[in-house]
Amino acid sequence: MAAAAAAAVAKVALHSSRSIVNVTPAASSPASPFSASLTAKSADASVHDVAFHNEPAAELINLSKAAASGVVSLLASADTSLLTRFVPHLPALVNTASVIHIATSGDHADVLALRSSGLIILHSSTATEAHDHALLAVRIAATTKRAVLHYFETVDGDNDAVQDEVTEADLKSFVASSSSSATSPSTAPNGVNGVNGVNGSNGYAASNGNGVANGNGASHVKAPASTGDLDADLSAAYDAVSDLVGREVKPFALYGSSQASDVAVVLGPGAEALSKADSSLAVIDVRLVRPSLATSLLSVIPTSAKRLITLERSARRTTRIGPLFVDVATALQSDDSRSIPATFVSGSLGHITSSNASDAAKTVSNALSSQKAGHGVLIGDTVKKTAAPAPATTAPVTPPKHEEAYSIMLDQVFKERLAVINSPHDETDPHPAARSPEYAFGQVMGQLEQRDALERAVKSAVRTGGVSPELHDILSQWLVSKDDSTKSAALSAKFSTLLSSASSSPDIDSIKSLVSHADNKSRWIVGSDAWAYDAGMGGVHHVLASGRNVNMLIFDTLPYSKRDSIDASKRKKDIGLYAMSYGGAYVASTAVYADYTQVLHALLEADKFDGPSVVLAYVPYRTVDAAAIEVLKETKLAVDSGYWPLYRWDPSAESKGKEVFRLDSTRVREQLREFLDRQNHLSFLANARPELSYDLASSQGTALRERQKSKAKEAYEKMLDNLDGPPLLILFASDGGNAEKQAKKLSARAKARGIAARLLAMDDFPVAEELKDEENVIFLTSTAGQGEAPQNGRLTWKALQAMESGSLSGVKYSVFGMGDSHYWPRPEDAHYYNKPGKDFDLRLEKLGAERVADLGLGDDQDPDGPQTGYKVWEPLVWKAMGVDAIEVKEAEPEPINNEHMKIASNYLRGTIVEGLADKSTGAIAETDQQLTKFHGTYMQYDRDTLDERKAAGLEPAYSFMIRCRIPGGVCTPKQWMQLDDVAEQYGNKTMKITTRQTIQYHCVVKGNLKSAMQGINKACLDTIAACGDVNRNVMCSPNPAISQLHDDVYEFSKSISEYLLPRMNAYHEIWLDKGTDSKNQLLAGGALKDYEPLYGPYYLPRKFKIAIAVPPRNDTDCFAHDIGLIAIAGKDKKLKGFNLSVGGGMGVTHSMKVTYPRAGSVIGFVTCEQTLEACKQVMLIQRDTGNRANRKQARLKYTIDNYWKGPENFRKELERRLGYQLAEPESYKFTTNTDEYGWKKDHRGNWHCTLWLENGRVKDVPGEEFRKGLYELCRRMDAEEWGSKLRMTPNQHIIVADVPADRKQALEEHLRAWNMDQYERLTGVFKSASACVAFPTCGLAMAESERMLGGFAGRVEKLFARWNLQETEVTTRVSGCANGCSRSWLGEIGLVGKAPGTYLLLLGGAHDGSRPSKPYAESVTEDEIIKLLEPVVESYAKHKEEGEPFGDYVTRVGIIRATTEGKRFYEDSLSNGVPEWRNALPVGVDTLPKGKISLPAVATSA
Ligand code: SF4
Repeated sequence: MAAAAAAAVAKVALHSSRSIVNVTPAASSPASPFSASLTAKSADASVHDVAFHNEPAAELINLSKAAASGVVSLLASADTSLLTRFVPHLPALVNTASVIHIATSGDHADVLALRSSGLIILHSSTATEAHDHALLAVRIAATTKRAVLHYFETVDGDNDAVQDEVTEADLKSFVASSSSSATSPSTAPNGVNGVNGVNGSNGYAASNGNGVANGNGASHVKAPASTGDLDADLSAAYDAVSDLVGREVKPFALYGSSQASDVAVVLGPGAEALSKADSSLAVIDVRLVRPSLATSLLSVIPTSAKRLITLERSARRTTRIGPLFVDVATALQSDDSRSIPATFVSGSLGHITSSNASDAAKTVSNALSSQKAGHGVLIGDTVKKTAAPAPATTAPVTPPKHEEAYSIMLDQVFKERLAVINSPHDETDPHPAARSPEYAFGQVMGQLEQRDALERAVKSAVRTGGVSPELHDILSQWLVSKDDSTKSAALSAKFSTLLSSASSSPDIDSIKSLVSHADNKSRWIVGSDAWAYDAGMGGVHHVLASGRNVNMLIFDTLPYSKRDSIDASKRKKDIGLYAMSYGGAYVASTAVYADYTQVLHALLEADKFDGPSVVLAYVPYRTVDAAAIEVLKETKLAVDSGYWPLYRWDPSAESKGKEVFRLDSTRVREQLREFLDRQNHLSFLANARPELSYDLASSQGTALRERQKSKAKEAYEKMLDNLDGPPLLILFASDGGNAEKQAKKLSARAKARGIAARLLAMDDFPVAEELKDEENVIFLTSTAGQGEAPQNGRLTWKALQAMESGSLSGVKYSVFGMGDSHYWPRPEDAHYYNKPGKDFDLRLEKLGAERVADLGLGDDQDPDGPQTGYKVWEPLVWKAMGVDAIEVKEAEPEPINNEHMKIASNYLRGTIVEGLADKSTGAIAETDQQLTKFHGTYMQYDRDTLDERKAAGLEPAYSFMIRCRIPGGVCTPKQWMQLDDVAEQYGNKTMKITTRQTIQYHCVVKGNLKSAMQGINKACLDTIAACGDVNRNVMCSPNPAISQLHDDVYEFSKSISEYLLPRMNAYHEIWLDKGTDSKNQLLAGGALKDYEPLYGPYYLPRKFKIAIAVPPRNDTDCFAHDIGLIAIAGKDKKLKGFNLSVGGGMGVTHSMKVTYPRAGSVIGFVTCEQTLEACKQVMLIQRDTGNRANRKQARLKYTIDNYWKGPENFRKELERRLGYQLAEPESYKFTTNTDEYGWKKDHRGNWHCTLWLENGRVKDVPGEEFRKGLYELCRRMDAEEWGSKLRMTPNQHIIVADVPADRKQALEEHLRAWNMDQYERLTGVFKSASACVAFPTCGLAMAESERMLGGFAGRVEKLFARWNLQETEVTTRVSGCANGCSRSWLGEIGLVGKAPGTYLLLLGGAHDGSRPSKPYAESVTEDEIIKLLEPVVESYAKHKEEGEPFGDYVTRVGIIRATTEGKRFYEDSLSNGVPEWRNALPVGVDTLPKGKISLPAVATSA
């Protein structure tokens, strides 16, 4: 048959093709089995001889592209390396009108490797079939424009002559008709990966039986129009060829009885002979291999089949079951009416002729009747190229173990290049360590290092010369081509020969000793199933982290049906996701029983990828001897369900303009989908502003932080390629950011010394699993709460505690702790100082780690703060690492700060839009978190659930706070109802009236953020500049009853707010979907043309606040703001102007004595006409001279004190800018900074009622439905057109204002009915107490505030009530942290959170808000505060003067010294210890504690 088949095929090709690629064994031997038949003069085809190693597939594609019409053919003999090299070209090849004829020599394994490629595959067993199929292939290729692979036998058999070969004339006519019927390609093909099911078929179940029309031998050619449907086209092609050759040509042929119970399905020659030898056996000859026409196949398998064997020629089978078995199983499973035969096995098809057919049939019969029917039987003789008769054998072919399929594939693909470092099944070295991932990784790294050494030696030899020109040339070529597998192998062979005659030199000797590494090997580490249990364990992480070209093949054998039987905590980590998240790695998820070609693709791509590759291999089985059908079923289930998605992730594809991710199965697991979504988003973010990509990504939720972690690692690893120094892992734990900042600096300084430093938050590093593998580790931690580690170091601390002693031997470490020796002033609390640092240091020592530099301690109280200790400690580290002699001259890189973010934000746009669209996390990027403040929203998270969620691997419960801009705090009932609707629909069904007279929503999740913003806009309000480094909500005394000035003053608050409002086109675009004049004006680089006339792109250095107060009430606390305007009335009782106060501000950083609360300085008087401009110029001075390098020193108060050296100079600068001198301040008198509750009548006769609500929280609780009551009230006021308004007070209460006299009673009744009249029943302390939000939503809270105020105020109230002072108003203010949002620094009693349950106690603030308080006791609990207050209140009760406020009394009598100016805030504070003056208290107040609280001294320098 051999010659006849090849000749027939060549003849058809010659007369039907535009071009022919004739693949020759080698350039020097241009003969192929087809060559002799390719010489016909009458042929149109141009014949191109291409040696097999010269990428004939590429040539075929090129010719195909060049041919405007017609078919292009390729003729070749089967060869593994040839067909393997087809794989990369398949995507381009599949949709070309080409025919590939492969002459096989008895083993089909190589051809069948391409069965899932999307090619249409025909098989011929006889010369006549080869002739017919050659015609069929042309017809199919021409009509469908799809590539057809036709393979046929070259082994001599019974049928080696072609019957009724077509004439040349008929052939030409046939080709012409085929071309004329060609249409566009069938829509069905989906490329090389067009596999939907386990068998790689693409689902073209024939709906028309076998698709073959019985011809009648007519010699004319039918040319049916192509339907564009592959099934129909195939059917038509079969019809056409059957007509042409005058015999039935069909995809499957049944020999024998259609009632048989024993069936053999045969892919290969000998079907007919087998059938003839056993009349009880039905034999099905498979001729169409792909597409797998299930219906068509089923139509020829007798329904009576009880026992079935599939036989195919695949001696080098890579799977225990062959593809034919898979096809038959799939076909049977596709029809519910058919069941799998009781006996269903597979075997190998040997050589069958009429002489051995009888024995072969017996073997089949035996195999089918065997109790232990398996998959290894060989039917027929062993295949040889020449048909030498051999005795039939029943000896089983040893089937490979399931996983060995992959090893065999590796062998076939890479041949001599293959270097498998280890194998779980390799038992040559019995020691378990020999199969461990660490061992394998070490081996690979060793080999790579040797290759690196070879490269260095070759470079040196080339550079220094001293070698023969020939060797020099070869060595140079090798350097260029060393990564090309083919070229490097060829060159290494050459220079090996030349080396033997080269004279000795150190380089040459090195090269000689290392020459075995010259080949570019394909290095594979084969990982057992056990590796998948924890990606952090074993070598996976090491391989990924190495960044080297190392490939891993990792098995997963967990059957799909058992996936839930594994304890969730023990489930395998998804190595694929891990590797993709890690970044810089090629990843493929494969299943050989699902898609063989995909595995081939994956292996080739992994090898080619310049970096680590991970190929996951799914071979599910319960026991090693599991039936192959079980493996197949499990694979099918897993792939079809999406449990085991088939995909390939090739990061290098992007640079080639190709898709990085290719999904090879139809379903994708949810986690994978999420990863891809995140990846897309992340890429967008990073691409949008590459210079900020670190910050962008680092701020995402847990999942994205994982991604960031890997990004950071990747970046560092790349950087480390250039660093030769020792590795150093720096782990930090930091709440406030100081320790993190210090760690970043340390890392930068380490790198400057050539140290390969990596920087991570402690809890982001898998301490339990991987710390032991680190060589040098630095722990850098601050101190939180009661001496605990900061949030992002607590898991690490737990992990260290859980480790066994000695488990960190081999790790060198040093610890630097940061703390404040004064934070816990009492001797018994002294051990809290720097406790985490000390704890880590001791614990690491206990675990066997070697301390290389003594524990360093940074103390906020040192002259230079923590730097004092740090400067001593850092040199010890460099010394320990042997880099202390290195002098670093480069300046340290400037860290990214808010100023960079602002300027890079494109006028506050940033990537907010993209962040909102990212569904994979509840968070937005860190930079965007800074930007959204300008838009009036802060990202927060639920601190109550943080630890639980962290332990569960979840990101924090992120949500957003939204703050409205409501100048003067006035809104109509209609507006209030709309604001209430927003809380109901998008928030937590409460609203918080803030100390800046506006409302805040909490717990708005990201998905609702935009809707909430639009809801607020519906109320004709916005949130612009409610937060951020701009002028914020302008406050105004709320009670119009107190003065006729109020109307004017309120108008001023609105005017100032509008005058200083940032333009913020971004706000309208992002939240309101409104076009702006800048929206469509793109500049180069994608930036929008925009501008901020007042602020410029940097905005202000910090927030800026303005408040107006109308004496005698300083309810707005006007001295707490950057600008305080004190309304001054003229003689006509009308507004004359304002006294101008500048430089007020509350925020402080604990332990930083350069920060302090400051009451504003009154620097002059401005008329109404001058006010707007004066406010603007004050703000612009701050814009221009404020400290932008240090946000903790950026408020106007520091600008005045530090830059302008006092209010006087500041005033001069303001006058210079205004162009006139400010008038001297007018006299005024404030009496209080509290609210006045209940009813008040104004000059117009309208009534105003100030309502009390605890902490400004508008909410409903059983029995106290304030929110509903207010809503109903608004509804009524609106419906009945009262003309009333709501006014929010700066003390977080609400005024129902402008109530006409005739509605007063109705309102009173409403308030009573809804229990909103609590102000009538309150005592003085409650009326004047307020608190900030703090826990659980405020991310900065150190202690409870809002949630503790009620209980605390009740206790304080009792102290006063004991002395019958319950009606005395004492401003009692609590803040959860030193930012002092409730203005606690001005409280007569102030509490500022320091740690959970612990506060700084302040006393001595003025009752009119003009004087800040002073520290009375540091770090005291609520109980201790009550105890401390007890004698003070007693003293007050006994010795106060008539009407004397509490704050004034304690300073008058010397219980605490008065704070005369911000900079002197810490002076004479009792937290400095009990001073001399304190012991000389006035008579009658000697019950006060003297030295009862032991308070160590602090440095007071500012
Ligand atoms: S004072 Fe601190 S804890 Fe309270 S709301 Fe302001 S930032 Fe948060």
